[in-house]
Amino acid sequence: MYLDPWKPVDKAIISHGHADHSRWGHKAYITHHINVPIIKHRLGEINVTGKEWGETFTIKNVKFSLHPAGHIIGSSQIRVEHKGEVWVFTGDYKTEDDGVATPYEPIKCHTFITECTFGLPAFKWRPQSEVFNDINTWWSDNKAEGKTSVIFGYSLGKAQRLLRYLDTDIGKIYTHGAIENMTEVIRPLSPMPETTRVTRETKKEELLGNIVVAPPSAHGSTWIRKMVPYVTASASGWMAFRGARRRRAIDKGFILSDHCDWQGLLESVEATGAEKIISTHGYTDIFTRYLLEQGYDARTEATQYEGELGEETEKEQE
Ligand SMILES: [Zn+2]
Repeated sequence: MYLDPWKPVDKAIISHGHADHSRWGHKAYITHHINVPIIKHRLGEINVTGKEWGETFTIKNVKFSLHPAGHIIGSSQIRVEHKGEVWVFTGDYKTEDDGVATPYEPIKCHTFITECTFGLPAFKWRPQSEVFNDINTWWSDNKAEGKTSVIFGYSLGKAQRLLRYLDTDIGKIYTHGAIENMTEVIRPLSPMPETTRVTRETKKEELLGNIVVAPPSAHGSTWIRKMVPYVTASASGWMAFRGARRRRAIDKGFILSDHCDWQGLLESVEATGAEKIISTHGYTDIFTRYLLEQGYDARTEATQYEGELGEETEKEQE
């Protein structure tokens, strides 16, 4: 039994649908039932079993259960219990309730295996309501200037979070094909606003003043030329880095992450009551050093998880 394995195995428990956690080639998949249609969309006809939150299943005397991780829709932490010893594997997670994913719940455990994509004290997120106010104001300003707004977010997770809070009183929401395809899968699972797919037939005049949600890979592609005159923005935790927006030649950066910030990580570690903390990906060394100073038994474990980078490098087809 493996959790989010990166090599093909017989039995895999999958935390969530991002490409760096749900790989192709396992003989059997177990995941939360909300994630079943999502990973089927990505991986095709796989042998997958869906579980409820907190539903216990036993494999060779080890008890497993899935608990909300709040990262993206259908994302789980995986609780593992054997002879009274409890470990929790977070996969990716965030503590803020984004209104789309089932909100994160801290789980008591002895050992906590945590991601720390943004495990630096400099990362401190604002409440998403403030960020979405900024995004909608930006859209409205672009419209007043007669421009199309193009905002980049990963096709699974970030895109639906954007869709949920874009203000359709300003204009219409258009989507890149990769985002429309994924959103069609998610519509029966979570309410989404009306969207229109950008196709070859879409005229640039009809896009003017409206907003287009696209995956990061669409930036710099021929696809985006249809949007002229347009203004670009990225909604990502990486936008907190000085220079990240300029390096990517994006007009505007909105700091919006589906991962914990520094405080979120620390509060989560504390809420689990765990004494052993294992960090899997992100700023693991800095986070681990800090935890050691606080008296935790902390270490880093090398994995192939990539946090937001893994979500971005996923191949996104139009
Ligand atoms: Zn993820």
